[in-house]
This record gives sequence, C-alpha cells and structure tokens, in this order.
Amino acid sequence: MDIIVATKNKGKIKEIKKILGDHNVISQGEAGINIDVEETGTTFAENAMLKAESIAEKVTCAVIADDSGIEVDALNGAPGIYSARYCGEDATDEDRVDKLLDEIKDADTRGAQFNCAIALVMPDGEKHIFSGIVRGTLDFEPKGENGFGYDPIFIPDGYDKTFGELDSSIKDEISHRARALKALAEFINK
Ligand code: IMP
Repeated sequence: MDIIVATKNKGKIKEIKKILGDHNVISQGEAGINIDVEETGTTFAENAMLKAESIAEKVTCAVIADDSGIEVDALNGAPGIYSARYCGEDATDEDRVDKLLDEIKDADTRGAQFNCAIALVMPDGEKHIFSGIVRGTLDFEPKGENGFGYDPIFIPDGYDKTFGELDSSIKDEISHRARALKALAEFINK
C-alpha cells in the first residue's frame, strides 16, 4: 500500500520507513507537499489527525501522521504535546534536553514516558488513531548519538542505557512509535 507520512521530521520518517517496511512509505517532502499544519489540538491524537487530514485533502492514497512527545512525571506530564516547542521555535534538540535536565535537577523522581499517536486517513476517508507509550527514567546527562530529540536522556524500562546509546533495532521494537505503528500495521494488513 502507498502511504504518505505527514511530517518533515527526519528522525520520525526514518523510523516509520523501517517499521512499516512492507509498505511504500513516502514522506510529504518526497511527495512534493510543502505545508505546515498548526498544531492547535489539545491531545497527541487531535494533533496527529489535524496533520493527517491536511495532507489527505491533497492526495488520493492513505496518509499517516505522528504526533508524539515526552511526558515527565515530576513536571505533571509536561512538556507533552509541547515537546517540540518546549524551548522556543528556533531551539535545537540539545537546547530542549538541557532545559529539561535543568528543570528536573532537584526533582525526587526521574520517571517519564514517550507517548505517540499515529493518525491514519484511508483513501475512502475512513479515519483511525493508534497509540503507543514507552516508560523509562531520565538520565542526568545526554548520552549517545542514536535517535533524535530527547533520546540521549531517556533510559527505557528494562535497560540501563539511553535510546541514544542503544542500538536503533531496540528502539524500533519497544518505542512509543514502534508500538503505535505495529497496531497500525496489524490494521492495514488485515
Ligand atoms: P511533534 O512533531 O509535535 O510530534 O514533535 C514531537 C517532539 O517530541 C520531537 O521534536 C521530539 O522533541 C520529541 N519526540 C517525539 N518522539 C521522540 C522520540 O522517539 N525520541 C526523542 N524525542 C521524541
């Protein structure tokens, strides 16, 4: 099945292409679609659907969109849906990681989770949401070069290294995005 992914985030595109390897996954850039959708929703699912719908209006094949972020226990779930905008528009992944580490430096707990919603709009207009979560703890400093975003400080439960250090094959098995995409793959392979 041809599937357009409504994102410009290179880290997400790489993971989605690997995990949905049985399908012809095309990024919105490869499809020549250059639109930015304002994320006005209040949940990951709402924002994912806004992104998927905006591209689906322009194409005839299936469209998926990912909205994801990190929810930190000591910050009552923040930055959550604001994970990409946590430190202002022009900030880098490093700036965001530094800000988060600073905000929780005196916290009693370092628990956190990555949360992902994948929205699917089928060619006939049918819509679905698939979700995934991975729990873990936040390290005290960034470690490793793999992945993107907050990966260098996130140690998934059951491991003693960050997603930045672990082989990408492990993230592709257990991550929030992997879990949501597996549910999506089961649905479209039915
Ligand atoms: P979105 O484009 O609004 O969904 O932004 C998601 C943001 O959450 C990303 O820019 C990252 O900062 C963070 N994020 C989401 N998924 C991951 C992940 O798998 N690893 C690390 N950071 C992530």
